[in-house]
Amino acid sequence: MPLEWDCSIRLSSVPRSGEPYVESFELPLDGVIEHWGQSYVSRGPVHAMVEASYTGERILARVSVRAEFSLPCSRCLSETGVAIMGDLRYLFSLRSSSRENGERDSDEEMGSVLEEDGDVDVIPVDSFQSELDLSQYVWEVLLLNLPERVICADDCKGLCPVCGQNRNEVDCGCVEDDTDPRFAVLRGLQS
Ligand SMILES: [Zn+2]
Ligand SMILES: [Zn+2]
Repeated sequence: MPLEWDCSIRLSSVPRSGEPYVESFELPLDGVIEHWGQSYVSRGPVHAMVEASYTGERILARVSVRAEFSLPCSRCLSETGVAIMGDLRYLFSLRSSSRENGERDSDEEMGSVLEEDGDVDVIPVDSFQSELDLSQYVWEVLLLNLPERVICADDCKGLCPVCGQNRNEVDCGCVEDDTDPRFAVLRGLQS
């Protein structure tokens, strides 16, 4: 995660009534993220939106992330742009409060709970400071939504298995050996 990232919300801005507080951030991202064994080149800042609300003494934060990268097409290896979007919800829960109340709060121990509309990660915290920094969660949502592979176009012809040239750019005219069963298997995978 870039050290200069600051994605903090002031908890005094979050209404105690349970109404959501929304704040947007533009987080700088230069260079390359290495993930899934390949290089994702950043094409601009990361746009993050945080929607935070109190639920009792806990704070539910939905972290939405939008960013653009380029990475090699998985067929022909040419650089291909990809826009990513994703969101996750985190429930910040005081470690001490449930013990003091004598409640067994299994949510915290499980690490995630099921709410009506999906999974929520439970983050135990010792105390709430005046600010809640969500940078590491923005980073997590970003990494989880990086696609493992992209193709530059649905009809990308890929690299020639004989000479290795990009068949979108050149018609190399190589003849594949139809009698070799391994090529038949490869064609089956591509189609
Ligand atoms: Zn391609
Ligand atoms: Zn060829």
